[in-house]
Amino acid sequence: MKDIKCPLCGGKPEYILEEGDGHCEYAGCPKCGLYATPSWGDWNCNPNEENTWQRWRDLVSKFPPIMRLNQGDNVLVWLSDDIHTVLGTDLALGKIHLQDVYGDADSYYPTGIKKWPWELERKGGVEQ
Ligand SMILES: [Zn+2]
Repeated sequence: MKDIKCPLCGGKPEYILEEGDGHCEYAGCPKCGLYATPSWGDWNCNPNEENTWQRWRDLVSKFPPIMRLNQGDNVLVWLSDDIHTVLGTDLALGKIHLQDVYGDADSYYPTGIKKWPWELERKGGVEQ
């Protein structure tokens, strides 16, 4: 889940390492300019890409769940054990448009979601 998408615009994040007299590294979204805190190191300090991505994940995790959904994500709703697939979200109304396994579409508020994609077990432990 390195390149967990941007919660603001859905853009694909990037990792940037600038080297010169020491280095600066940061991760974030080139599309809208949301970046996690950069870190600087001097010449005897190695860049740490994994830590940089972790700061991005920490930042994204603070956004409301509805902003972290992707089209095609799977969620569970209350009173049903069927997987529902995200068709889209309406942030202004705070509604999530879902399609069930029978192809029927309906809208839900975030309170109607029982399990978010990141709370569902990943098949084979494969991260997306
Ligand atoms: Zn963005």
